[in-house]
Amino acid sequence: MTAMTLDGRALINGQRVAAASGAVFDCISPIDGRTLAQAARCAAQDIDLAVTVASKAFEDCRWRGKSPAQRKRVLIKFADLMLDNIESLALTETLDMGKPIQYARSVDVKGAANCIRWYGEAIDKVYGEVASTPDNALALVTQEPVGVVGIIVPWNYPMLMASWKIAPALAAGNSVVLKPSEKSPLTALRMAELALQAGIPAGVFNVVPGMGSEAGAPLALHMDVDCIAFTGSTRVGKQIHVMAGQSNLKRAWTELGGKSPNIVFEDCPDLDRAVEAAITGIFFNQGQSCNAPSRLLLQASIHDVFLEKALALVPKFAPANPLLPDTIMGALVDDVQMKTVLRYIDSGKAEGAKLLTGGEQVLAETGGCYVQPTIFTAVQEEMTIAREEIFGPVLAVQTFSDAAQAVRMANNSIYGLHAGVWTRDINKAHAVARALRVGTVHINQYDEDDITVPFGGYKQSGVGRDKSLHALDKYTETKTTWLRIDSPL
Ligand code: NAP
Ligand code: MG
Repeated sequence: MTAMTLDGRALINGQRVAAASGAVFDCISPIDGRTLAQAARCAAQDIDLAVTVASKAFEDCRWRGKSPAQRKRVLIKFADLMLDNIESLALTETLDMGKPIQYARSVDVKGAANCIRWYGEAIDKVYGEVASTPDNALALVTQEPVGVVGIIVPWNYPMLMASWKIAPALAAGNSVVLKPSEKSPLTALRMAELALQAGIPAGVFNVVPGMGSEAGAPLALHMDVDCIAFTGSTRVGKQIHVMAGQSNLKRAWTELGGKSPNIVFEDCPDLDRAVEAAITGIFFNQGQSCNAPSRLLLQASIHDVFLEKALALVPKFAPANPLLPDTIMGALVDDVQMKTVLRYIDSGKAEGAKLLTGGEQVLAETGGCYVQPTIFTAVQEEMTIAREEIFGPVLAVQTFSDAAQAVRMANNSIYGLHAGVWTRDINKAHAVARALRVGTVHINQYDEDDITVPFGGYKQSGVGRDKSLHALDKYTETKTTWLRIDSPL
């Protein structure tokens, strides 16, 4: 077996480089608190260099000048290389952010590779338009790459969140400067190396690790960045829109937080499936999923039976070392996040919610960051744990009496990302789905997901959509070209 080396240096213009200042930061594993590697602590000077390089690559057409079919071939090769490296990528992700290794493989690496392949395959099948103009004119409506795309992503699905943005941005012919989260920068750097190996020219895809305020902000403020695509918290997302406005009015797209309601009516067609989906949905990825169904809204008549079944499933999610092949619940990303989650649990208790199960840090002797799967019942709408995104394994259970109340409670949120509806009444399902102010509604399931459908939210869950052909709109400008036709006939 060969040892795996983790290289945390930036990747700018096809080269691995240290930050200009020489500064580094530690990449710490939440499995046991061990330092895995040091990453370049990039700041304004490094961002400036990466943007300059990316602008030059855009201007000299080394990538956008390739035909869509050529870009397709390179992206498909990039996806293949991700899969060729599945073991080392999955291991790096699990070590760096604590998710179960089986999901790092099946969800993160495979999902990212699938996304890159999908946009590669799509890009030579996208057509422009000919407008319906009078006979003496021809108007072409075409999409052109926007230029330099700055991308800032979080740590919960580092490769997947990055690929949802880099794949459509690169497919459309843009240059990219990616800032991964300081909590999980290593796989993004490896992805950029694989992209180079696949044939993406140097300078087209750059990765600059660093802190949000030191590396992310200069990217969002940069005058030569044409578009900023951000996934992260609503708090920082709002700043991204401000920074876009303060600088060059770069296009700003934000995929932000959620507090997704999962509404189960008493005529739910399959209670066992609903329980499984509710519990898996909130505890998957240690609860660190933006679309996690974190508010469970139960019709009062099924409250007790539902929770009895739910409690029976909880032991399956006992936290364990995520490197073990069967683990389904690993470590939270770091100590800071763990303490945030534990503070929310304290607030639930203090505000009068009933702790049904969990609530404690566990496996502290490992030096890692593990929290029990936690369920609160008797949660009221005004409680902090019903309103704020916890981003941890904490489920808030509320009850309702009828559909109107369920919809009102579900929509009582600053967020609008996902929602679930469980009923055998197709009328009610559609009426409720229409009334929900969210980007995605799940009816009688909660886990369907596919690269073919848009992903994003209403309200403060963000602006714009990732995935599907819709995402290409974010990374392209629409151009109209008029031509006069003088008829010689
Ligand atoms: P975060 O604190 O907002 O950070 C996201 C990214 O922004 C990180 O790379 C961060 O860098 C950077 N950043 C922080 N401050 C910045 C600033 N002033 N200027 C520019 N960049 C800055 O979010 P997170 O804790 O990493 O991720 C969790 C959040 O992401 C949750 O709210 C979750 O719901 C959301 N999320 C949404 C989706 C979606 O599709 N809607 C998907 C996944 C996650 P540092 O890491 O260095 O701080
Ligand atoms: Mg880490």
